[in-house]
Amino acid sequence: MTERKESEERKSLNFIESIIEEDLRNNKNNGIVYTRFPPEPNGYLHIGHAKSICLNFGLAQKYNGKTNLRFDDTNPSKEEVEYVDSIMEDVRWLGFDWEGEPHFASDYFEQLYEWAIKIIKSGKAYVDDQTPELISQQRGTPTKKGIESPFRNRSIEENLDLFTRMKDGEFAEGERVLRAKIDMASPNMHMRDPIMYRVLRKEHHRTGNKWCIYPMYDFAHGQSDYIEGITHSVCTLEFEVHRPLYEWFLENVFTEGDIKPRQIEFARLNLSYTIMSKRKLLELVQKNIVNGWDDPRMPTITGLRRRGFTPEAIRKFADTIGVAKRDNVIDVALLEHSLRDDLNKTASRVMSVLNPLKIVITNYPEDKEEFVRIENNPEDENMGIREMPFSRELYIEQDDFMEDAPKKFFRLAPDKEVRLKAAYIIKCEQVIKDSEGNITELRCTYDPDSKSGSGTEASKRKVKGTLHWVSAKHAVDAEVRLYDRLFVDEAPDGHKDKDFKDFLNPESLQILKNCKLEPSLKNAEPESKYQFQRLGYFCVDRRDSKPGNLVFNRTVPLKDSWSKQNK
Ligand code: ATP
Ligand code: MG
Repeated sequence: MTERKESEERKSLNFIESIIEEDLRNNKNNGIVYTRFPPEPNGYLHIGHAKSICLNFGLAQKYNGKTNLRFDDTNPSKEEVEYVDSIMEDVRWLGFDWEGEPHFASDYFEQLYEWAIKIIKSGKAYVDDQTPELISQQRGTPTKKGIESPFRNRSIEENLDLFTRMKDGEFAEGERVLRAKIDMASPNMHMRDPIMYRVLRKEHHRTGNKWCIYPMYDFAHGQSDYIEGITHSVCTLEFEVHRPLYEWFLENVFTEGDIKPRQIEFARLNLSYTIMSKRKLLELVQKNIVNGWDDPRMPTITGLRRRGFTPEAIRKFADTIGVAKRDNVIDVALLEHSLRDDLNKTASRVMSVLNPLKIVITNYPEDKEEFVRIENNPEDENMGIREMPFSRELYIEQDDFMEDAPKKFFRLAPDKEVRLKAAYIIKCEQVIKDSEGNITELRCTYDPDSKSGSGTEASKRKVKGTLHWVSAKHAVDAEVRLYDRLFVDEAPDGHKDKDFKDFLNPESLQILKNCKLEPSLKNAEPESKYQFQRLGYFCVDRRDSKPGNLVFNRTVPLKDSWSKQNK
């Protein structure tokens, strides 16, 4: 893309920004922009939520506004506290901070109840004695009208009495519900007398046993927006059909002069090779198919973090994909690309040998050691230079040597030369094997005049291959976990007759226990990120790595190994 085109695209607004700018021009909402991120605390956040977070917080940042974090906790369940905590941690890690304290829809239960009473008093809501199953059957289909409930025309007094008794715990779950009285013939199914309240005899993580009736999402959401003074209530496309109901409820509780929130829908993020349904992610956790919500193969924010993603890479990704009005699927390679792009600039280059093969340099003195100098990041000279020890015994990768090498094998082979990165040219003289014929060691010689950067003729001599290496006696031991995509199919949950678990990648995790790292990594901090030269980007596992017991995760290989081009 040319620079000009790119800057033009920068300047063009997405459709939500256009709406906001129009509102600002008209001084709607007194020029205030107030958004919210409203997760339901029933699971960990994933990359799709990250998109929504970047969008909501990003809009407020751009227009000098504010963003609330609001837990949509209208459905009581036991595990919620763990989820609430993880959600706050994830939002902060992504680099955003909400306005004031986090909000909870449950804080508004009293107000919502009062509004329900108000709507009943205006004759627009009624208590229905039918079972939820029957109510659901009577809703009809998009092409067939619904059937009106026999309780629809109860008197206001009777409705008030019954609703109060619902609240006071006189009825069992499923015995009665409160419904909005709208239109059973509406072409929009959501307007066919939707349920506003149901009886649920469950303890709530914040309100305990105070309530035994709980508002439905549709009745709680818009009203929560209204209470908080939200101006632009951004949500995903599946709520487009709920918008008339969102507006209907607001109309019925609204006071002239207040800010009236506007719901705006955008397309949710779908990623290839990834599942994003919380229910399915939970299944992976519960069936121990992955090791918890923060397993580095999970698309959860905490999983991506542990994998080695940076908040910058995720924010950049969210920005790159933009906001769409129609559903689409984004190639997961784009997410990985954002990450490589970021790490390329920020990660130090280091040498690590994952599958070590020992090399003895027979003409190098036994007790000698020296240092070679290496740039930490050729992309950024401010990152400096480090020294790395070199000695008579070294490790290289097993697959950098081949005994019967084809012509195009530009690595080490008998009687062939390679350069050891930042050090000397070596030549393989002898292959040592154990009694079973496995190669255990290579005997090599080195050219003492060929040291990189020494300025000699030999230092400039070109040989075909350059290998990474570490000095055996200085190397640090580590476990390295090679992570790959969790699914082998582009759309694991897009197959009618197959379960998404049929497409798990059997090679999504490979654990290497005998890796040899350069000594500068000895005290590598949890979550620090490196480029292991020629291998990819790696990070120190934030959960399992301990001093003396280093564990690294592979974040991404250097190239997209899934791309057909790179196969
Ligand atoms: P649930 O089915 O449990 O409601 P959910 O994925 O919609 O799942 P929420 O906690 O309700 O989860 O989502 C919080 C916010 O994140 C909502 O505004 C929702 O629209 C948005 N969101 C959820 N998934 C995505 C996604 N894949 N892309 C963009 N935004 C998303
Ligand atoms: Mg939702």
